[in-house]
Amino acid sequence: MKKYSIIGILLLTVCILSGCKTTDNNPITRQTILFDTIIQIRIYDSNATNILDGCIEKCQYYENLFSRTVEGSDIYRINHADGAPVEVHPETIALLETALSYCELSDGAFDITLAPVSDLWDFQNNTGSFPNSDQLQKCLESVGYQAICINGNTVQIANPDTQIDLGAIAKGYIADQLKLYLKENGVNHALIDLGGNILTIGGKPDGSKYNIAIQKPFDEQGTPITTVKTTDDSVVTSGIYQRYVEIDRKVYHHILNPRTGYPYDNSLYSVTIISDSSTTADALSTTCFAMGLEDGLELINSLDHTEAIFITDNYELIYSDGLSK
Ligand code: ADP
Ligand code: MG
Repeated sequence: MKKYSIIGILLLTVCILSGCKTTDNNPITRQTILFDTIIQIRIYDSNATNILDGCIEKCQYYENLFSRTVEGSDIYRINHADGAPVEVHPETIALLETALSYCELSDGAFDITLAPVSDLWDFQNNTGSFPNSDQLQKCLESVGYQAICINGNTVQIANPDTQIDLGAIAKGYIADQLKLYLKENGVNHALIDLGGNILTIGGKPDGSKYNIAIQKPFDEQGTPITTVKTTDDSVVTSGIYQRYVEIDRKVYHHILNPRTGYPYDNSLYSVTIISDSSTTADALSTTCFAMGLEDGLELINSLDHTEAIFITDNYELIYSDGLSK
């Protein structure tokens, strides 16, 4: 008896350490830290842990392609080319083109060249102080997606100070690619969570839908304010409550207005998008936050198969047409 308990504890420890469960009726799960956040992949209809390994490898592959900070990545090479043309992977071109379409759609409220301004705010370290205003003005001069020029598989930035950051869309794209990979490997019931960027495959094996919680902004216990029931959809939230600096009791969050270099101050706490494409959901969550409630809602209501929940700073939930009953 004792022997079995020790083996049991050992097995449990191995499973916790490797982040997997392989019992027949249970999902298998892998959790790790990537893209500066906690990611988790859960498969409900297979015990093949090598598929989970494959997912993590794919994530690392895309990190090495799209990260602004990984030396030698496509985005790193473009940003450090001093204005020279750089040949990149076709997937980088495709994602850049999609990202640029949201820059245009939002008339520049969404802009993938804001990174140097974000760096000045130092949201990572939360220093509690404003960026130096001279530096901020200088950085703002290099912001402008119009400087990005794509020609075949080559990208050139006209202004050598301009930097690309795909942080507002890359996790969505990667989630979509993981879904394709999982489907190719015969997985029909799974949940991909890239730091709150959720993509579901099928429903649960018992036929029920996944119940995705939308967090109540600033709630320290992480209590849901509502839930979304979904199959084969992505649910992505851009909120102001996760990355911010607090100065004189006011929150200065990470979604910045490219025209001022300051956070959008538009009485929104978060925007959640529901779409079958996670790329779309990720890009639109940031885009709609940047556009604000009225224009953001109008945009969502003009799109097929795309819904949204806006949460205002008095915790009012505003639903797009397809979700309002
Ligand atoms: P998170 O990645 O934290 O889940 P988002 O999807 O909203 O949240 O994206 C945040 C990313 O968007 C950060 O990389 C940030 O630098 C970038 N960003 C901030 N403001 C804008 C903006 N106006 N347009 C495009 N990207 C932005
Ligand atoms: Mg986003």
